[in-house]
Amino acid sequence: MKWEENVRRVTPYTPGEQPQKNGVIKLNTNENPYPPAPGVARAAAAMDVEKLRLYPAFPEKTELAKELAAYYHIGADQIFIGVGSDDVLAMAFMTFFQSDRPVFFPDITYSFYDVWADVYKIPYERKPLDGDFQIRTEDYRQKNGGVIFPNPNAPTGILMPLDRVEEIVSANRDVVVIVDEAYIDFGGTSALPLIEKYDNLLVVQTFSKSRSMAGMRIGYAMGQPKLISCLNDVKYAVNSYTMNMTALELGVEAVRDTVYFEECCNKIKETRAQAERELTRLGFVFPKSYANFIFASHKSVPAREIFERLKENDIYVRWWDKKRIDNYLRITIGTKEQMEALYRALSQICGKT
Ligand SMILES: *Cc1c(COP(=O)(O)O)cnc(C)c1O
Repeated sequence: MKWEENVRRVTPYTPGEQPQKNGVIKLNTNENPYPPAPGVARAAAAMDVEKLRLYPAFPEKTELAKELAAYYHIGADQIFIGVGSDDVLAMAFMTFFQSDRPVFFPDITYSFYDVWADVYKIPYERKPLDGDFQIRTEDYRQKNGGVIFPNPNAPTGILMPLDRVEEIVSANRDVVVIVDEAYIDFGGTSALPLIEKYDNLLVVQTFSKSRSMAGMRIGYAMGQPKLISCLNDVKYAVNSYTMNMTALELGVEAVRDTVYFEECCNKIKETRAQAERELTRLGFVFPKSYANFIFASHKSVPAREIFERLKENDIYVRWWDKKRIDNYLRITIGTKEQMEALYRALSQICGKT
């Protein structure tokens, strides 16, 4: 067809499966196994549906922005809120990566980055992680059009110490550096304090993992007011009302309940420590994880085989048919009970009891 010449062609991102049957143990998309803070359910029950006839407020003018600003001790003009961090990151790619020079990110990382670069026609270069899956900061010293990496990195779970994050930010003062902190609450040190010192740093976080609200779609970026207003200008040039009223209201409760939040993060860290011991016993090796998942490889059984056999047992983990990582499984930390079911299945598959 003639019109096909004028189509924007892109290979879309493939998220982990969302099986629709019951009874599945879902350890494949890094969702939180615990429910959102109790206040979220209360606010949902009390919601005044009548007002849904109105357009929602601009996110930066809402209680949610105020609550996040108070929690992180920054100004409300230093936060951009979007429909999950995927929306925030897509907006950031569109806003900040307009150079003819390539944007740099690791070869093994969140597999959405190259998709956004492709859809917005942004040139990019993947910088190989070293043999231990570490980011080599020296690779990020060449001229570029911007830098993005997750910390902890996905899907490895490896945390880069803050001094090395700062090294990359300070070596790239002429471009925007985005640190994607989707997993920072599970034991990492956030780069957020560096936004005072560096006007080129954007820190992105999400409600999807540590705040148990993947289904609500809330993400946010933090940086100096100038960066945030550039993001807002682009966002309001695309769609004024991306955040729905429900998300704006319920999100507030998740931020307010700091006690519940810390309890959940601690439970996941405890279960992760237990998983390290169990997986080691079962013959797996893995880098130390600072996220809510473990990136593990078995010493003798191929990852693909384990992945398929676990699925037959209704246990879903993530596996990629990709160079360098095709013998690894990314296993989300679930509840203690879910993890115990996983260890039982793995002992069958890997021949240990
Ligand atoms: C999960 C994840 C995101 C996106 O999460 P949202 O649900 O869109 O907030 C972004 N970056 C990384 C590295 C992730 O793992």
